Amino acid sequence: MRVRLIQLDGKLPNLAIMKLARWHLDNGDTVHVTRRILPDLFEPHYDRVYGSAIFKFSENKIPLFRQQWPDGILGGTGTGLSTTVEQLIGRPYESYDYSGYPDFTPSIGFTQRGCRLGCRFCLVRQKEGGPQSVNSIYDKWRGEPWPRKLHILDNDFFGVPEWRDRIREMQDGKFRVCLSQGINVRMITEEAAAALASIQYRDTKFKERRLYTAWDNIGDEKKFYAGVARLEAAGIPPSHLRAYMLIGFDSKETWPRIWYRFRRMVDYGIEPYPMVYDRARNDLLCFQRWVIRGLYRTIPWREYKRSTKTAASVLGWELVYEAPAKLACAFLQARDRLWASEPGKSITVRDVVAELPIECRALLSDKFLAAAYAINVEPNHLSN
Ligand code: SF4
Repeated sequence: MRVRLIQLDGKLPNLAIMKLARWHLDNGDTVHVTRRILPDLFEPHYDRVYGSAIFKFSENKIPLFRQQWPDGILGGTGTGLSTTVEQLIGRPYESYDYSGYPDFTPSIGFTQRGCRLGCRFCLVRQKEGGPQSVNSIYDKWRGEPWPRKLHILDNDFFGVPEWRDRIREMQDGKFRVCLSQGINVRMITEEAAAALASIQYRDTKFKERRLYTAWDNIGDEKKFYAGVARLEAAGIPPSHLRAYMLIGFDSKETWPRIWYRFRRMVDYGIEPYPMVYDRARNDLLCFQRWVIRGLYRTIPWREYKRSTKTAASVLGWELVYEAPAKLACAFLQARDRLWASEPGKSITVRDVVAELPIECRALLSDKFLAAAYAINVEPNHLSN
């Protein structure tokens, strides 16, 4: 049988495709792995065609797949279909073939499946259930002569008690490990933070020190930074962190809220990585591009030229980036004017606020007023 396996998205090798390739090869079939939906002129007739997509944004490729391969079998989280390799094969299956990815030299796979949480925007819990341990590090490594580099795709690495064995295997085997699906920093313990600090964690190219995590919900700020602090105490600086930030999912989300999360992370030295849930939102895609290309480091959002950038996004940016500084400046100027007009007289925060232009007064928050005391360097002159 001739089999065509099409990976519709994703930079890393697709595990479902690798499993199907292994299974067909073991059954004496000929396998062709490709990322192209359309065959080229010299391709033979195929007896069976599979397509797999993991990202929702790949849905737009499905019509072409269906048109070209009407009998083709589709699966993967990006297709909205629940077909699994195990259903197709008829039994549990954990063997992979790498020959469709000749340039890929690391090893890839899961040490656990499932997740302790059930975030509303995510299908992991629904599809895989609670956390279960599935493989050791040595089960996943291809062995010599392959490099000791592993892409571990676990969604909740610390969700199973066996994680301690996995960490020991990484340490003893001197593996470099990329945990690109992210560790759940909100639930990180001191023990887990110390374990992470003890391994050679790397980015997807195995070049830089990188740990992946997420701050998806603005309401998780406290828990997120408590976890970041735990990592820092264990020796993992915020500059090693890339945090996925989900945007376009929360119905209460506003641009100032997006900018707030973004700025908090950048100011803390964490690299934000926006993930756009609603792919119809061109304004969010525009923001995502500006961030993941690193343009935010050199081009202020206001000056970034792009037809899909919206006025609302600029207003939000100004509010988060400029209003606090402008307010502080106006506040100090008003205070100085009062001091100059009546030298030696004790003045209150209320006096200064009354001096401010009306548009500044409207923006004053309790937080700002509290901060005003910190700005004051001469307490005798400024009291409550
Ligand atoms: S923690 Fe991550 S894997 Fe688990 S449900 Fe939430 S988004 Fe999904």
